[in-house]
Amino acid sequence: MNIRVRRGDSFWFYSQLFSVPLSLITASNPNTNPERLQIGQIVRIPGFYVSIYTIQPGDSFWTIGQRIGASTDMIQLLNPSLNPLQLQIGQEVLIPVRVRSTIVQGGREYNSAAMANDIAMLKEIYPFMAVRTIGNSVMGKDIYELSVGTGDKRVHLNGSFHAHEWITTPVLMQTLNTYLLGLVNSEPVRGLALLPFFSSVTLSIVPNVNPDGVDLLINGLPDEEPYRSEVLAINNNSTDFSGWKANIRGVDLNNQYPAQWEEEAETKPQSPSPRDFPGYAPLTEPEAIAMADLVSESDFDRVLAYHTQGKVIFWGYQGLEPEESETIVNEFARVSGFEPIQYVESYAGFKDWFIQEFRRPGFTVELGLGENPLPIEQFDEMYEDSLGIFLASLYM
Ligand SMILES: [Zn+2]
Repeated sequence: MNIRVRRGDSFWFYSQLFSVPLSLITASNPNTNPERLQIGQIVRIPGFYVSIYTIQPGDSFWTIGQRIGASTDMIQLLNPSLNPLQLQIGQEVLIPVRVRSTIVQGGREYNSAAMANDIAMLKEIYPFMAVRTIGNSVMGKDIYELSVGTGDKRVHLNGSFHAHEWITTPVLMQTLNTYLLGLVNSEPVRGLALLPFFSSVTLSIVPNVNPDGVDLLINGLPDEEPYRSEVLAINNNSTDFSGWKANIRGVDLNNQYPAQWEEEAETKPQSPSPRDFPGYAPLTEPEAIAMADLVSESDFDRVLAYHTQGKVIFWGYQGLEPEESETIVNEFARVSGFEPIQYVESYAGFKDWFIQEFRRPGFTVELGLGENPLPIEQFDEMYEDSLGIFLASLYM
């Protein structure tokens, strides 16, 4: 929510008044110098929204505050022109409301529009989260990166490289929401205080690498040509897209990386296909390129790519993974019960390329169990597994 600075106010004062960590207020106002607050200037307070209360007989700022769990000074701050001694029945007063639960409700069909909606709401309530577009899909949809924290340790997670694994997107979004909520309210998650991570970790999440593919699964055939005709042709004129892994052009984005791409291409489809076609060359697809560019410029210390299914975590590539990969994956396994798998006969994946290029820990996390696309009934369990792995990716 927005408030206006009064004489004598400071970020530290707001931190005390609203019980919000100072570092989060500072990060929510990146263009404001806290040493030079101007009277009347707008400051953003994370973790709250503004609601309207209508004065009832007998009300004072104090009784209203008692009712909504706010101090009189909070109410005064939001209503600077109101005289608390002359409240009129029926008069409207702005009141601050602390957000106490997650906004993201992930256990539902979650297309790119639903995600964009949630991103906008999260950004509104948690302005210390940075949102940017790292590229566009074939159909021009934004590929978002959400970042939180100011630390030296750079942790990256992504979801929905594969269209029919779209459930990884709401899992990541709800996991992120839990983190934001816990940060602002200073509420531990699984016994872990989160605020130290804000200053020790820079978290990067790309919740949906393949928005065109995800929307194909959830919304069905697009109206827009030439995609409509092309997708139908690739899918043998079937409108059942439940087996669709690829992007909208029939390229498997997780087979697009220059890490023994030729070996992968030899054994895979030679033309656009609902699944597994690695493209006619590495990094031809805008979604794969956007992710490669992001990684190249971001200096990530570790990356986790969320997929479904199997409750396993792949963590090696050609012996190029560093020793700490094993330590980290063992902790992921401990908190989730997933099985670590070092090597598998598969190449050209995002994590393969990351390990090969940077010799840093890269993981493919396979959430859930069953046949893709996994039923939405598995969402809660997947979210719980994700949360443990997510927290471990911060503290390990
Ligand atoms: Zn996958």
